[in-house]
Amino acid sequence: MSDSSLCPCNSGLLYKECCQPLHQHTHVAEDAEKLMRSRYSAYHLGLVDYLLETLHPSKRHPGEREALQESISQTDWLGLKIIDHKEANNLAEVEFVAFYDDEPLGQLRERSRFTREAGRWFYHDGLFLPPLKLGRNEVCFCGSGRKFKQCHGS
Ligand SMILES: [Zn+2]
Ligand SMILES: [Zn+2]
Repeated sequence: MSDSSLCPCNSGLLYKECCQPLHQHTHVAEDAEKLMRSRYSAYHLGLVDYLLETLHPSKRHPGEREALQESISQTDWLGLKIIDHKEANNLAEVEFVAFYDDEPLGQLRERSRFTREAGRWFYHDGLFLPPLKLGRNEVCFCGSGRKFKQCHGS
């Protein structure tokens, strides 16, 4: 990632102003959506340590690192779309769709659960949901600025 690279999480911000300070531990995620975004970017960039650190300790099973590494090496992530974010009393749910390269286009749509402990957000688990219907004229999820039908929907 160069200094002028856009963040993989599709925030529209530069990586150095978005997920990089979280990946480098100079900032903590201020809300669960930011943590979710930084975890997506970590998948994109192959930052296994970051994914393990932000997974709740009760969810770190033996073999977790290998499973993450395998998932990262097998998936080419294309973009992220946050659908919903609810937060109260150090509990949060974030619904998102992460798109990946496949034929037809791959979608991981999930409602994820997070908790905040001692000021830090952790991912717990998620519920898979059916894929999102994408409008052909909507702006493509990948951040290209083009219509879906002229980009990844073509
Ligand atoms: Zn980001
Ligand atoms: Zn696209």
